[in-house]
Amino acid sequence: MIPITIALSKGRIFDDTAPLLKAAGIVALEDPETSRKLILATTRDTVRLIIVRASDVPTYVQYGAADMGIAGKDVLLEHGGAGLYQPLDLNIARCRMMVAVRDEFDYDSAVRRGARLRVATKYLHTAREHFAEKGMHVDLIKLYGSMELAPLVGLADAIVDLVSSGNTLRANQLKAVEEIVPISARLVINQAALKLKRETIQPMLEAFSAASMQRGASQEVTEVAHQ
Ligand code: ATP
Ligand code: MG
Repeated sequence: MIPITIALSKGRIFDDTAPLLKAAGIVALEDPETSRKLILATTRDTVRLIIVRASDVPTYVQYGAADMGIAGKDVLLEHGGAGLYQPLDLNIARCRMMVAVRDEFDYDSAVRRGARLRVATKYLHTAREHFAEKGMHVDLIKLYGSMELAPLVGLADAIVDLVSSGNTLRANQLKAVEEIVPISARLVINQAALKLKRETIQPMLEAFSAASMQRGASQEVTEVAHQ
């Protein structure tokens, strides 16, 4: 069998992906949270995992250093998706990309007045497109993390960030005012690898698809049950 390299990030993506990998018969031989190794062997000797920054996953796959990977839609929108085949929404790491402001900030009125807002974000590309579509003029400020701080200390009027429960926003007296796009993690495959290694990749794709559909279905059931 042709060897396959899968690029993953630690934390949320790895935790949510492990059950899907398991359904495809792939279990890491070491825990990436405790191991210092960046290349992990798995229970399938033809499959190895590489552990990279979440935002670097598309780059490793684009250049073929990994055959496939799992990346959030947020990261894929910023990367642009060149050289990547994106066959499957895995329905994991779900959240929303949103505009947020300080609790007392009247965003709607600022938009109506055509105010020029300063917006801090890690997601420059997505933010630029969003405000351009709304016909709003914004000054974007690139940050690498802890965006919630920016409006609190006067760096920005608004932020564009990922929101799931909203707890981090609330803890910092911020409120979400606009949804930009729903986010979930996707399987990405190097376009050349898919052609050259289809025999190995296709069955894995099917196993991921079946496992994520099951997961999607059970999520729907629990959501309905909680209503
Ligand atoms: P790094 O820590 O390397 O800067 P990161 O903060 O983007 O990267 P994670 O926090 O592990 O890394 O996020 C990985 C991916 O998980 C994101 O790209 C996004 O798709 C998804 N994600 C981020 N925050 C949430 C959240 N609150 N709920 C659900 N999914 C999320
Ligand atoms: Mg993070």
